[in-house]
Amino acid sequence: MSAEAPSPAAPQGPAGHIRLTSHSGADDAPPIQWGASTGTERGPLVGTTTNRRHRNVIGAHSGSYGVYRALAVAAGALSREHRADLTNTAPTDVIGPYPQWSRPGAIVSLDPWGAMVADVFSAELAAGHDIRPTIAVTKAHVILPEITEAIDRGRLHPDGRVLLPGGAALVTKAAIEPVWYLPGVAERFGCSEAHLRRTLFEETGGMYPELVTRSDLEVFLPPIGGQTIYIFGAPRDLADPSVELTARVHDECNGSDVFGSDICTCRPYLTHAIEECILGAQRGGVGLISYSRKEGRALGEVTKFLVYNARKRQEGGDTAEGYFARTECVAGVQDMRFQELMPDVLHWLGITRIHRLVSMSNMKYDAIIGAGIEVGERVNIPDELIPPDARVEIDAKMAAGYFTPGPVPDADELKKPKGRGLHG
Ligand SMILES: [Zn+2]
Repeated sequence: MSAEAPSPAAPQGPAGHIRLTSHSGADDAPPIQWGASTGTERGPLVGTTTNRRHRNVIGAHSGSYGVYRALAVAAGALSREHRADLTNTAPTDVIGPYPQWSRPGAIVSLDPWGAMVADVFSAELAAGHDIRPTIAVTKAHVILPEITEAIDRGRLHPDGRVLLPGGAALVTKAAIEPVWYLPGVAERFGCSEAHLRRTLFEETGGMYPELVTRSDLEVFLPPIGGQTIYIFGAPRDLADPSVELTARVHDECNGSDVFGSDICTCRPYLTHAIEECILGAQRGGVGLISYSRKEGRALGEVTKFLVYNARKRQEGGDTAEGYFARTECVAGVQDMRFQELMPDVLHWLGITRIHRLVSMSNMKYDAIIGAGIEVGERVNIPDELIPPDARVEIDAKMAAGYFTPGPVPDADELKKPKGRGLHG
């Protein structure tokens, strides 16, 4: 832009200095006692900017979408004073409270009270605190072509309760935003809280100075994706270990989940799990899909697509032997999903036993049993659902320790190029 360029017409914020965040001065901020046994004792989390004196967390609500909110304010499309009208937004189903909500260290990456703020903190809301839910619970009908096909082939039978004749499955679903209790997250990863805070600050380009200047603020609303859960059957049954629970914890893969790319097994495994959840619920059990926004092993889709090219252009073709190495060459690690935080959502739901875990991942399995949740049977993806181009991925994972009831591929098998070329 030249010096003569006209100044932008975008609306300006309030005149005056920018308020830095190095000093507390927030006498009006309600205290937080993370892990307290009641919501009232725990206290509300205030992450809005409508009244800065009330803030008691670092960051902003809505995960990564908090940046879009800022953009909307900058563009003049949204008043920074807007407050959510929560009339009629209450959860369709009450979840908890469960003993896990106050068990030390059990939940550190979401707010178990996040769905009930309008109820639990009604007094604070009435007193003018802008408290936002970080969890919402609603009902839906889900219609998937794979489920319709399963009905056509006689594998699924509509019962008018879990599955309607038209192929719609009835679900309760919940959206969950990330809420990190920093001392607990640090403990989960075996580092000091000071080291975690400093690294989060430095490696995001200094995005949240409060991470290093405000050690009194222990809760962080990170600008990352959250998770969505889909429940087939009664949500309260999730916490009853005598009711058969079929569950899959699934990490986002937009290319396969939404667009049907055949290089991996993500969508076929997800729809297979939904079919198993419906069958389980029809047997009198309950089903759960927990879907985490951790695209491409949390490396992001750009890295993922770069790796696809590197795999398919390597000498000897796309082999299971080179599968993890190509990711490591581009990203520096094989995986950044950190299943350590994943079981928190299971604790939120009161789960103590998963009878049928629809996953082959040893990392997910280890994280779940490490969190003290029992796992009965592990359900692998049926061979006929694996796309030919995804054979590379599944062979590499089985060789790396993923659960399989069948033979583990040997070294010769892993050397065979099985993936399609880039222009095939
Ligand atoms: Zn995938």
